[in-house]
Amino acid sequence: MARGRCEQCAAVAALATARWYPDSHGLVLRCSLCEGVLLRLVDHDDRSGVDLRGLSFLEFTPQERRESEIDAV
Ligand SMILES: [Zn+2]
Repeated sequence: MARGRCEQCAAVAALATARWYPDSHGLVLRCSLCEGVLLRLVDHDDRSGVDLRGLSFLEFTPQERRESEIDAV
């Protein structure tokens, strides 16, 4: 399961424990401890972007990486 460290409170947790909030342009993922913004998924026309400024690191297993590559195809 992908884990990350919150830039604001330094908590390390699985992203599955974070809280997802839809907004007008996409999704916002917030830390379950401090409510700081971990990442934003932004949709614009036919493209999507990811803002990762709220994470000081993001890690995942090789299996998760392979699965994401398969999903991207
Ligand atoms: Zn936090």
